[in-house]
This record gives sequence, structure tokens and C-alpha cells, in this order.
Amino acid sequence: MLDEKFAVRKKVRGRLRIALIYPSTYKVAISNLGLRIIYHLLNLDDRIYCERFTAESDRSIETGSHLKEFDLIMFSYHYEPDLLEIIRKIIRLNLLDRPKIIGGPCTCNPFPLKGIADYIYIGEAESSLMELIEGIMDGVGLEDLARLEGVFVPQVSETARRAYPRKLDTFLPALQVSSVQSVFGDALMLDVSRGCGWSCLFCLGRSFYAPYRERSLEQLVGVMREGIMRGGYEAVVLIASDLSRYSKLDGLIEAVGEIRRMRGFRLIAPSLRADAMNEDLLDALAESGEKTITIAPESCEELRYRIGKGFSDESFLETCRLLKRIGISRVKLYIMFGLPGETLSDLEKVVKLIKEVKSMGFEVRVSANPFVPKPHTPMEDEELEDQKSLRRKLKFLKRELGGMLATDGIKQAYLQALIARGDERIGELLVEAVKEYGEPTLAAMRRKAEKMGISLDDYARKGSVERPWRRIKLN
Ligand code: SF4
Repeated sequence: MLDEKFAVRKKVRGRLRIALIYPSTYKVAISNLGLRIIYHLLNLDDRIYCERFTAESDRSIETGSHLKEFDLIMFSYHYEPDLLEIIRKIIRLNLLDRPKIIGGPCTCNPFPLKGIADYIYIGEAESSLMELIEGIMDGVGLEDLARLEGVFVPQVSETARRAYPRKLDTFLPALQVSSVQSVFGDALMLDVSRGCGWSCLFCLGRSFYAPYRERSLEQLVGVMREGIMRGGYEAVVLIASDLSRYSKLDGLIEAVGEIRRMRGFRLIAPSLRADAMNEDLLDALAESGEKTITIAPESCEELRYRIGKGFSDESFLETCRLLKRIGISRVKLYIMFGLPGETLSDLEKVVKLIKEVKSMGFEVRVSANPFVPKPHTPMEDEELEDQKSLRRKLKFLKRELGGMLATDGIKQAYLQALIARGDERIGELLVEAVKEYGEPTLAAMRRKAEKMGISLDDYARKGSVERPWRRIKLN
């Protein structure tokens, strides 16, 4: 039994039943603010009952209904390897003839999805997702639906432009679905801003959520006050690519303090830039009992500058000293390996930096994954480093960092690269491989690809020669 609060309960009869599927675990799904917003947004409409699914079950969380009972199926697609799970669900449950929408940041390249989605929604839900759903309900023709901002209809579209609200004063539920099983515990999540003012050359988030937009302080404080007082959440999570950039940060911290005096809660800020820490914010985090801070130094200093993440080792270490002073005891560090031109000596420097942080007395966790070139970024034409060399580098990191290190592994990175810069043929290949093997291994996919006359390794390393995603305008 899931320990959830504020799940939506409605009568099923007479309503358009929408299945909202997050193709990963429940823990990941319930920790995603975008999914919470879409879920409550759709359920504001009395004609609709939207229920949630994860990869873990074919039955909905709300009523235990089977996926096959739903009129419209929506997938939230955030991580390229999840495409295999999406395809598996569609094939296994024979959902090919059901209307399906796929949305989420990975739709920035909709071409591998052409054979499985009826509609691909590229952008932020608040803009025109409702219009698309109403259009489908009213039987509007495909050509007309394809004219909606952000909508790519595989049968008729050649191109599309991402949809996003120009002002971030959009719907943000104060009583939002939550569970102690989320990575933040029972928490109210607030997106303080979207987009990012920095320009890291590898980052898809930067282009997919551009331009930088902020929520008003009034809205954030209002939602936080209502959520805490009426919803009784144990924590508030402030989501932003760089929270210290928020122009009303002082007011926000003050409001957090005021509300906490009335009812205590933990304050969580999952991602912070090492060179832009705000001391008041860190104090507020430490005061609320937060012990862990996540920072992404990415690589050694030289490569870090080369990929556009311009801060020095010294400013990173200075930040760590500051964290130590205010009582933070754990740091989680994100790093990449396999960056263009990277040598083993670059990785030695990364290891040295991490060990320096460790020697300050922190409990250190390192998440290390290969650099995967993403479409719509200035690094989209770079190559994925070959598997052998990546394996060697990972082995080195494992040996040096031991139990501190966690990784998704080289195979996941390969799959990510294959799909991120794939095209229609990659989509066909995945569908065929799932039909034949259910859960295909990379070797099985490679054999299938050979039969289709394509080289899986070339696709993963360099991406589709046609670069079809360039027909999609993100801004
Ligand atoms: S700071 Fe983070 S979100 Fe912003 S561009 Fe860099 S990696 Fe992307």
C-alpha cells in the first residue's frame, strides 16, 4: 500500500480516463514535480480523470484500473533508456491502436518516437497540452492539431516549435500528491525558476527550458504557506537550476523562516552551483537540519572551463570549506568522464580534487557517468568515447574512489547516446528488438541492426547523419 497524500479521487463513470505513465520506478515518479503539476492540472477539468502509472505495474495507483481501460495514454519521457520501457508497455499490452501522447524533455528529438506515438508534445505542459487533449476529445483533424504550439504529429508533421509559458505564474498546486517514499520524503515541491542563466555546453536542460524565468515571490510564499499549514508536509523542496540566482532570494529565505516558526519543516535545495552559493540560503538549509548538498564539478579545472562550466578548483574548494563551517556533513558530487580530449591525467586531477574534499571530513558520494552528447546543445556533434576506453576509465575511478562511487554504467550511456541522437530507424529498431526479445540486450540489438543494414556503434558514437532534431525549434 502506498503511503500517499492528496491523490485525486473522482468517480470514473462519464469521464475521459487518462493514464499518465512515468516509465520508471514509483520512487522516481513521485519525486518529479513536472509529473505532479500535469496530474493536478489535468484533474482540474471535471470531464477528465487522470490516474498515474509507473513501470512497476499495469494498474493505476488511484483505482487499480488496468491500463487497457483508459481512453488516452500519456507517457512522461525524461531519460532516454526509458524509451525501451515505453515500447515494452505498448507492445506487451497491445496498445498500438490507443491514442498516445509522449511528452518530456527527451522529446526534443521526437524522431525515434514516430512509430509509437500519435502525438508528441514538445515543451512545458501549461502551454498547450490541454488544447491538444481537448482537440483529441473533440475529434479535431491531425493537420489542425499539428498547428498547435509544441505539438508534433508523426503522421503529418515535419517540424515543430517547443511550447512554453512566457511568464512563470502558472498553476502550482499547494496540496500536491506526495509520499514518504519520494527521494525527498513527504515534501511539497516548488519550481522557483525554470531555465538557466549559465551556459554549460553539454547541457540539454539549458536549451529545453530556456529562457530563464522566475515565479513571483508572492506565488511561492502563498503556495508554501498553504502547503505547510493545510497540507502538513514535512519538507519543502526548492527546485531551480541555480537557486542563488533567484532575484527575490532574500524574501524567499525570510518567508521560509517565518513559516518554519509556525510549523517546522525541512528545507531542501537539490542542486546548487559551486561558484554561486548564497550564505543566507546555506544557513537556512543548515538550520533546517539539511546535511547533504549536491554539487557538480563535472571534471578537472581545465576541462570544466572547456565545457563552459567556468569555475576554478579553488572556488569549488572554498565552497566546500563554507559548507563544512555551517554544518553540512555530506556532499554529493556529479562528475563526467569521456569528455572530448580527456586523458587519464585529467581524471587523476578529478580524483585528487575529490580526495581533497573527503579530507575535509565530509562523507562524500560521487556519481560518475560518461559524457553523452545531447541534441540541441553546442556539443551535439561530439563523439561518444569508445566503450573500451570508457570501461578503462571507469575501472580507474572505481579503483581510486571505491565505495564513494556510483554509476549507471557504460551500457546505459551507450543506450542513451543511441536514442538521444537517433532517428526514425532507431525507433523502428527498438520496436523490432522488443517484439522479438522482450528485454533486448545490446548484443541482440546489434544483431537486429545488422539485419536492417545499420551500424549501432556508428549511431551511438556519432548520431544520425541526418540530424533530424534540427528541424525542431526549441526557442
Ligand atoms: S548550471 Fe546546470 S542547468 Fe545551468 S547550464 Fe550548467 S549544467 Fe545546465
